[in-house]
Amino acid sequence: MSKQSKFKGLQFYDSSMHETAQRNLTLEDDIRHGIENHEFIPVFQPKVELETGVVIGAEALARWRRPDGAVVSPGVFVPKAEEMGLIPQMGASILRDACVQAAKWDFNGHKPRLAVNVSPLQFEDPNFFSIVEEILEESGLAPELLELELTETAAVDNPERVAKIMRPLRAKGVRFAIDDFGTGHSNFTTVTRLPFDVFKIDQQFVRAHGSDPHAPAIIEMILAMAEALGQETVAEGVETQEHYEFLRRRACTIGQGYFFSPPLPAHEFEEFVRHWRAPSLTKKMA
Ligand code: C2E
Ligand code: MG
Ligand code: MG
Ligand code: MG
Repeated sequence: MSKQSKFKGLQFYDSSMHETAQRNLTLEDDIRHGIENHEFIPVFQPKVELETGVVIGAEALARWRRPDGAVVSPGVFVPKAEEMGLIPQMGASILRDACVQAAKWDFNGHKPRLAVNVSPLQFEDPNFFSIVEEILEESGLAPELLELELTETAAVDNPERVAKIMRPLRAKGVRFAIDDFGTGHSNFTTVTRLPFDVFKIDQQFVRAHGSDPHAPAIIEMILAMAEALGQETVAEGVETQEHYEFLRRRACTIGQGYFFSPPLPAHEFEEFVRHWRAPSLTKKMA
């Protein structure tokens, strides 16, 4: 590259910039059409209560099913939809679909809970409360079964405003989880003042268990804090028997990860719950 003339280099740069711009434009158009065509749908990842082995709920995770059959992950389209100002609309559509599904779940009287991710821009939309209220009414899902996940960064950015938006929803029975906990910059005071019901320990700490000597200490600190505050804990990224047993031994409430199941389309989630058997423990745990 460095041997090429400046002119050639520039020309190359120009055309690639043009291509990037083209791609972005196409992506934006595709997202707009995708929302109209109902291409953004939730899949459901089981959440397992570690002590009992019961599938106590699921987290809805957005997927973009494109007309050509390709499935796009939220890491690609959520930031783009946020940038385009379309996240309140997209988020409401996913929340509605997920609530409609979850309202149908009944496994011999056991009703799994539903957790849904909420973007800060969606959360701060002035219509957020009435949208959630309307979706709960339309779907018939009990508000107590709905849990909204906000990332730690979003939650601590403006704790007063966040608490104010949470209050009327909590009054209806909706629960709140603080997602990706441990990756932000929250301090004890802020975190203890925010009315969260659940801490979700970020998967990087769970995954580092066994390789990074500090990971267990961080996990235990979060578990101790949550216990002192009377809050539930969910460990994300549970991938191995070792992760499972460590978290269970340390009384983490709930586990979520590939060790139990990847996120599943709604009908597969239902099959999963019907055929589920709690993983057995190795001798040293039993
Ligand atoms: P998140 O809420 O922290 O979700 C957990 C992510 O970890 C999901 O990725 C899930 O598929 C993945 N995961 C689950 N178990 C394991 C495991 O054992 N190992 C590993 N390595 N990964 C695991 P996904 O579905 O790609 O979602 C990524 C992020 O996109 C989510 O992180 C969430 O922040 C955001 N997102 C997903 N759906 C929505 C949505 O409907 N609305 C908004 N605003 N954001 C969403
Ligand atoms: Mg989440
Ligand atoms: Mg997370
Ligand atoms: Mg995450």
